[in-house]
Amino acid sequence: LSLIQHASNLYYTEPCVQLAEMLCGRCGMERVFFSNSGAEANECAIKTARRWGEAMLGPEYSTIITMKNSFHGRTVTTLSATGQEHYHEHFTPMTPGFVYADPGDISSVRRLLREERCCAIMFECIQGEGGVIPLAEEFVRDLATLAHDENVLLIVDEVQTGNGRTGSYFSYMNYGIKPDIVTTAKGLGGGLPIGATVMGYKVADTLRPGDHGSTYGGNPVCCAGALSIVRRIDCAFMSDVRRKGEYIRNRLSASPGITDISGMGLMIGLRTTAPASAIVSECISRGVLCLTAKDRVRLLPALNIPDELLHEAVETIRTVCESEHFKLKGD
Ligand code: PLP
Repeated sequence: LSLIQHASNLYYTEPCVQLAEMLCGRCGMERVFFSNSGAEANECAIKTARRWGEAMLGPEYSTIITMKNSFHGRTVTTLSATGQEHYHEHFTPMTPGFVYADPGDISSVRRLLREERCCAIMFECIQGEGGVIPLAEEFVRDLATLAHDENVLLIVDEVQTGNGRTGSYFSYMNYGIKPDIVTTAKGLGGGLPIGATVMGYKVADTLRPGDHGSTYGGNPVCCAGALSIVRRIDCAFMSDVRRKGEYIRNRLSASPGITDISGMGLMIGLRTTAPASAIVSECISRGVLCLTAKDRVRLLPALNIPDELLHEAVETIRTVCESEHFKLKGD
């Protein structure tokens, strides 16, 4: 529990330290920088990677490879890291120093590593805003091997996929890799604004005092809230997330109007015969909150959703997909 609302970031507070220890313990890492959002968590990762590149490889090694179709936030630099041109429109010039590889094609990453002076590869294991598309296991493992062999950092953006969402604490754990930096936010605070950049041994001492900071980052109230969340995401909880995800998949697969189901755990994308936007607005009008991701309907239910409510919501989604399908066919 937090007894004070704010402390200058010159001081540690108990909840902040406990949360940092807990997050490091979850992924075998060394240090955490706390901020207020996912975009800020990624900004810190980008600054850390560039600072590391400058010190370890040389001042010109500042380029970061990200994936086409990725999403990393809405600040100018994280927009620049985002490999989707339409997000850049109207806001140019973008921050220089990002190049985009084809997700799934390791030769495109190899080529960029050859052509550019790189310090890091940054990606989401499941492209969320990009359409709930999990990267292929082999590709993710190849990325990790390549980053290790070429001595660049591996940064995984777990802003959307972290904190139990995919049935593991972080989604990279489903792939058996070990990143150098993990960023997270969203579910971490359970509704309170907090972001975290978790750093492994390679970059544990990269940022020096004064290199980075945040007035409200790591404030005791948000950290106490996040601590209560992280404590509850234990093995039993995550196995329940997987069970609920399986339930949704089983119940919706082979449903009329649904042609494909992607994602992991409770991060699910539905390809539907009717436009995703029509399905989403009909679901919302029937009390089920979902959203689109590209051409898919995206489901991100609360991880602790009671079974009864989940069953009811899934039946609504099923009915809506089916009726929109037949409406489209003119039946
Ligand atoms: N990274 C990913 C993968 C996201 O999905 C998002 C938000 O949707 C962000 C970063 C940005 O997070 P925030 O909105 O907290 O800044």
